Amino acid sequence: MFWIVFIVITIVSVGIFLTTRIPQIHEFEEIAEKTFVCPLCGHRFHVKKSQIFYKWISIYLHKGIPLKCPECKKRDFCTPSQDN
Ligand SMILES: [Zn+2]
Repeated sequence: MFWIVFIVITIVSVGIFLTTRIPQIHEFEEIAEKTFVCPLCGHRFHVKKSQIFYKWISIYLHKGIPLKCPECKKRDFCTPSQDN
């Protein structure tokens, strides 16, 4: 009988975990669609989702993602453009 309680608690916690993460995944999808702007030369470029997947939390901490600019080849915090 005890294992049923255990399974129910597991399912409920997984459910809570997923529902709290879904809005963040949605936000990440939106950010990945945006154009990033290089702070050094102003070049605008797109990135692959896989490139920023492990860095997207940095958007919330630093308001930018450390990316290598394809134009000036320098790495700096690139911010997503607001107009698209
Ligand atoms: Zn640049």
